Amino acid sequence: MRKCICLYKGVRYGKIYFLYKIMGKTLYITVMFVVPFIMTVIPLSCKRDVTKIRDGARDYISRADTTSNVRILLIDRAAKITLAVNGRYQILGSLSNIIDQGIKLDKTTVYIENGRIYIGDRSYYNSELRIKNLEDSGIEVNTVLYRGDIRILQQIDKKFSVIEETEIENFVAGVIGCEMPNAWEEEALRSQAVAIRTYVESKRKAKKNESYHLDKSELAYKGMLGETAKSRKIIQDTAGIVMTYNGEIFSAYFHSTCGGHTEDVNLVFGKEKLPPLAGVKCGYCNNSKYYNWKVNIEKSAIVHKLKKVNGRISGIISVKAINPGPGNHGSEVEIAGANGKERMNANGFRLLVGPNNLYSTAFTAKNNGNSISFSGKGWGHGVGLCQYGAQTMAKKGFNWREILEHYYPKSELMRMY
Ligand SMILES: [Zn+2]
Repeated sequence: MRKCICLYKGVRYGKIYFLYKIMGKTLYITVMFVVPFIMTVIPLSCKRDVTKIRDGARDYISRADTTSNVRILLIDRAAKITLAVNGRYQILGSLSNIIDQGIKLDKTTVYIENGRIYIGDRSYYNSELRIKNLEDSGIEVNTVLYRGDIRILQQIDKKFSVIEETEIENFVAGVIGCEMPNAWEEEALRSQAVAIRTYVESKRKAKKNESYHLDKSELAYKGMLGETAKSRKIIQDTAGIVMTYNGEIFSAYFHSTCGGHTEDVNLVFGKEKLPPLAGVKCGYCNNSKYYNWKVNIEKSAIVHKLKKVNGRISGIISVKAINPGPGNHGSEVEIAGANGKERMNANGFRLLVGPNNLYSTAFTAKNNGNSISFSGKGWGHGVGLCQYGAQTMAKKGFNWREILEHYYPKSELMRMY
């Protein structure tokens, strides 16, 4: 083994000496050291100057992924969908080879039969298909119009998943129109755009080797329906800008109304503590109708939903939000029932009961016989940007950078592209 290494080194050094002899000392040093050094340094310094001049956000390009596409899971385990393309299109196989094309695809059904993907009366013996619209008219999936490519991926039992692959800026433009009212202040919308882009980028990074980066249900997204001329402008104003902490992109959560103080990500999602997501006093969202709320929820409805995760709970006596964080959102919920007490993650409980029924985990609850009455503050998980707070800050004259600094303290803006 040792002999092999020596031989290898001998050959290597022999080649270098040979090159040195035939090229001459000066030429050898220029080719081997000076040229590679110049080629490395010049492009880096140019990029950094350009981004600094534009708006002060620092360059993130060296850490970013090379492509700027995001993959969104629209439907999982579908048996049938409808598909239409109002314009020229191509159908590509998994190796990106064009296997079909047309000038228009009228509304048709997609399904799997005998291992083949059927699009209407045409079928393709492929595990995956990509439908590409060659115009800017979008592709309709179950009546919703999407701007990106639509991928159909076969799963087992004649099921398939539907994934949209689109430019991140297109996706952010679609999400912002659904996450925040279009009529809101532009500075609030810009802060929201940067938060969405940062959240999406953190997902792209975390799931770069998976078939999709995000599930459609994680963010309000209705394809091109959310895009407006205003949302397009807002996106352009902040294009490529994300927030980082210690040079790393983080999950920039956001929610509707915090109820006075945002919450610590560690207590809500069990994620590592992070200064930008530790929770801050908001003080700007008391005009939200969800700042204070009261709801009455039938015990039977709660038990029915809890059965999905915990079949032991019955005969609810009390529900308590416990171990609150700085924003007073409970991190756990304790449910006392006929069979004793059970604890579960508070945000998980909220989502299970229904985020449109139980608005937040900052609540106190009272037994009302057949129902539990909840009194609480805020709407959403409470972590990161408070949307109603951002709107009030914008109305008071704060710009989008100041809004982000307030809700994500110690974060730094960087430009990815
Ligand atoms: Zn707030």
